[in-house]
Amino acid sequence: MATQRDTAPQIPKRDTDFSEWYTAVALRAELADYTPVRGFMAIRPYGYALWEGIQTWLDRKFKETGHVNAYFPLLVPESYLQKEAEHVEGFAPQVAWVTHGGDEKLSERLAIRPTSEAIILPMYAKWIQSYRDLPILLLQWNSVVRWEKATRLFLRTAEFLWHEGHTAHRTSEEADAECRLILNIYRELLEDVLAIPVLTGIKPPSERFAGADTTYTLEALMPDGQAIQAGTSHFLGQNFAKAFGVKFLDSDNVEKYIWSTSWAVTTRLIGTLILAHGDDKGLVLPPRIAPHQVVIVPILGKDDGAVLAASRELAKTLGAHVRVKLDDRDTYTPGWKFNEWELRGVPVRLEIGPRDLAARQVTLVRRIDARGSGRVAKQTVPIDQVTAVVEKILADLQAELLARGTAFRDSHTTTAETVDAMVKALQDTPGFVKVRWCESPECEQTIRTKTGASPRVIPLEERASGSCAVCGRPAKVWVYYARAY
Ligand SMILES: [Zn+2]
Repeated sequence: MATQRDTAPQIPKRDTDFSEWYTAVALRAELADYTPVRGFMAIRPYGYALWEGIQTWLDRKFKETGHVNAYFPLLVPESYLQKEAEHVEGFAPQVAWVTHGGDEKLSERLAIRPTSEAIILPMYAKWIQSYRDLPILLLQWNSVVRWEKATRLFLRTAEFLWHEGHTAHRTSEEADAECRLILNIYRELLEDVLAIPVLTGIKPPSERFAGADTTYTLEALMPDGQAIQAGTSHFLGQNFAKAFGVKFLDSDNVEKYIWSTSWAVTTRLIGTLILAHGDDKGLVLPPRIAPHQVVIVPILGKDDGAVLAASRELAKTLGAHVRVKLDDRDTYTPGWKFNEWELRGVPVRLEIGPRDLAARQVTLVRRIDARGSGRVAKQTVPIDQVTAVVEKILADLQAELLARGTAFRDSHTTTAETVDAMVKALQDTPGFVKVRWCESPECEQTIRTKTGASPRVIPLEERASGSCAVCGRPAKVWVYYARAY
């Protein structure tokens, strides 16, 4: 038998250095790693499994709502990128350029797509002639490159994976409804699958996607009190349609421009998952997204054969209902494996040793206890009841994580009447601060300068009455501010 590894890698305490803790978890849970290309990460299989979970769930939702997958070129001719003025201005500083093919200098530079409106809309101009060709509801799963100066694994990388939806519609109302439909799909993904509560609404003009009329957004609050943008859905109006000449002949025989949308979530969600749920032991995964919902660790001793056989049998029985990993490696001690799978966030661990076997039971350990404290919560479960008990605990864990995040978010959301009150709130209870706003850019700038926070989201349902927190004029909307990733 090979020498057993007994010492598990340690990670820094979360509340001592949140940033260092984050990176250590991403690396040591084997989600991602640095590469020889600065700012570009490798996503390791365990991290990719999380992305596949997100993809699989979304793919089903998108197809159920009439969307189809397609694919468009990696490269965008410079002249195309320049056609929509705001768009090119917004993305120009971050574009990577292809200038040569082999040794030959290209007559026109090609942008590595930072997003694909400028290559997809020209295709729509070819494909759309009449109102009968509408709507077009498609998306592509791909990667894009945005040349970032400061990068962090998953949260900000020069290349990231995403899907980008691009839809074309006959009317403004239809395009707007599409944006809201997608926003709701994203909200369901965040809250029901990833167990991360979100605020939804629209961005103020200063934070809109370059070229959009309206950007719908989902904003989550992380345990360090900073907000993170979890997804966006853009109503592009007719801006890109006009820039690329995408017209159709309507039933009234009048030629009109289409209305378009684009929307995305990215591999940033994996960073969000780490931040939202992790603790001093490492990653904590909500059961619905966990690649392994249960890990079985046999405690080998005198009666190895029987324990292994029982573990395999259990993995098979339970595996018909939930995602199970049997860790029967003999090169690591059980103690090492416990730490390892806790670090990697597996929701439930089952231990089977000779004594458990004799008593026809297993020892079950939840990754977090009911109060979410990270303390070990052990119980024994009769072998013939394991499936039912595990399914119940997985459902409980899923609900508890969302409830924990919601309680944190709510206790870290303050309503402020003045800018001074905002400054105080952000010091005392870092998180969201909700204020009334007159919609003037000057008032926004005052808040940014004095608080260091940015406007995250304008809620759609809540109407503001009263006066702007900065200038005292009548307020038009509520805005949630926060410091942000
Ligand atoms: Zn104002």
